[in-house]
Amino acid sequence: MLIETADKAGFCFGVERAIKLTEQTADEYGEVYTLGPLIHNKIVTDSLEKRGVRIADSVEQAAGKPLIIRSHGVGRNTENRAAEVCSELLDATCPFVKRIHKIVSEQPENSTVIILGNGDHPEVQGIIGHAGCKAYACMEFDEVRRVLDECRASGGNAVLVVQTTFDRSRFLEYSEKIREEYCCVKIYDTICNATSERQKNAEELAMRADLMLVVGGRHSSNTGKLAEICSRYCRTVFIESASELSPQILEGLHSDSIIGITAGASTPAYTIKEVHFKMSEIITNNENEESFAALFEQSESKRLYNGAKVKATVVSVKPNEAVVELGTKHTGYIPLEELTNDPNASVSDVVSVGDVIDAIVTKVDDSQGVVFLSKKRVDSALGMEKIAASKEANETLEGVVTQAVKGGVIVVTNGTRVFIPASQTGVPRSGKLEDLVKKTVQFKVIEINEQRNRVVGSIRQATREVRDAERAKFWESIEVGQKFEGEVRSIEDYGVFVDIGPVDGLVRTSELTWNRVGHPKDIVKEGDKITVIVKSFDPEKKRVSLSAKDPDENPWTKFVEEYQIGDVVKATIVSITEFGAFAQIIPGVDGLIHISQISTERVTNIANVLTVGQEVEAKIIDIDTEKNRVSLSIKALMEETAESAETEE
Ligand code: SF4
Repeated sequence: MLIETADKAGFCFGVERAIKLTEQTADEYGEVYTLGPLIHNKIVTDSLEKRGVRIADSVEQAAGKPLIIRSHGVGRNTENRAAEVCSELLDATCPFVKRIHKIVSEQPENSTVIILGNGDHPEVQGIIGHAGCKAYACMEFDEVRRVLDECRASGGNAVLVVQTTFDRSRFLEYSEKIREEYCCVKIYDTICNATSERQKNAEELAMRADLMLVVGGRHSSNTGKLAEICSRYCRTVFIESASELSPQILEGLHSDSIIGITAGASTPAYTIKEVHFKMSEIITNNENEESFAALFEQSESKRLYNGAKVKATVVSVKPNEAVVELGTKHTGYIPLEELTNDPNASVSDVVSVGDVIDAIVTKVDDSQGVVFLSKKRVDSALGMEKIAASKEANETLEGVVTQAVKGGVIVVTNGTRVFIPASQTGVPRSGKLEDLVKKTVQFKVIEINEQRNRVVGSIRQATREVRDAERAKFWESIEVGQKFEGEVRSIEDYGVFVDIGPVDGLVRTSELTWNRVGHPKDIVKEGDKITVIVKSFDPEKKRVSLSAKDPDENPWTKFVEEYQIGDVVKATIVSITEFGAFAQIIPGVDGLIHISQISTERVTNIANVLTVGQEVEAKIIDIDTEKNRVSLSIKALMEETAESAETEE
């Protein structure tokens, strides 16, 4: 006999998304409510309950707690009420259902909405709750016709949408009839592809099979529909779990029979696997009872139990799980989500065939020879120990940001999830936490709650410590004359602040260049890279004075090499003061012509004699190399000229 599982069996995209969001929220808050059961599958809801997921029958029951709207969605009034009374509202409404909400909410008040589907189903009730006009749920075509006749009589327009899990063939049949009989109806095909593909897939398998096992919750309407479709082609049995299977199931089958397995959108993969294994065992048992007895005996002698820590050898790496050998008759499975806390990691990122790993048994089914294990729980326990030791020793830890969540980011280190609140990430309010995802970061542990298995960290604290250490090192090693490549941070009237690493230093305007400067803005702009030299520093006041003047370009060196007292120079007046005028001899060296040295005649107002920009001839009468000062005299030149004139006469 051949057992074949349909390709598209089990969790759909919307359900998987809702379960992930719920698990993450429960892990983050410790306790979270869902408005009604998340999915119609007791095995899954029981396991969620253990993680802190509670079911609320009404919004009021979850008052003050985080509440998750499940994939079916709810009406607008319920959404509004939940936003008012719950501490947080997390929307896991499937995007396909959201699309229907959008369509119906956009219809004008005088229009009519028909929802092809079960009016008692929460998805349909949620859709009705988003319509701003008359809305009716119809299952049979007669009901659709009644609504459309009424609509036509009143001269209104109508739109028709479909419950995502509605049977496609019936929808097509109704649509054709509507198009033939009515012209004022806009029809939207809103059946979910996941559902139709699963149905098509199951139908194809049922056509070939002698027996179909449809696995899913008793109250799951999409599983019920699968069973209905399959039963058109072969004997079909609707089961919730493998435990409902017995050898009697094989009645009427022969050695070449095909047994097909399909499952509803709320059936987890491991339940499908359990059914597959149980079925294999029933077949094997049927073929060889003795061999089964021997296996059973072996399984009894090597019994595993929940919580046992075992060594496991990886024998196969699959997209969603690792298959492991435990040295018993069991086949071990470690689902991807139990391999690692990193939601971005794939199975092959974590293990390879041949690896021997430590894992904890989470579920044993001796009768089916299946064991489910968790590697991440072992890693997490070890990781918690390491994290606690690091906190004790005030060490900085390193980890990878795996996801941005509400209020912060999750970093995984040593196999353990660490929550970093947004305020501790170092990302500014205007920044995006998502930009940190997949980055390696350093952080300090600021809180550990072992009971809740929760660790809180701070990237900011680690960054601050690194910065403080760098600053301390800077102040220990700084020297006058030390050169830095810096970046202009800000420009003030009196100079510019330059980032030279751990601190910013000040370059006064006069230290920007050897030449005269009007405003620092004339020389540099923010962001410019400049070379600076430490002139002085004060570690107490945390101040550094810098100079951007290149000593090799010092114009005074050139001046004293080329000029001496007594030389006559051509100089340009650059400024006039009450006591004299400054004249540039060469760029970077100005000489002072004192008021008494301007002329042989008495000068009371310099501006009457000299103007800025005027070129004059003057004699160097003094050079002070210590203070870098030059004194010039026009008067001395005038007197010399007068003397030589007298001599000639
Ligand atoms: Fe979404 Fe389709 Fe799954 Fe419904 S069946 S939750 S519409 S993906």
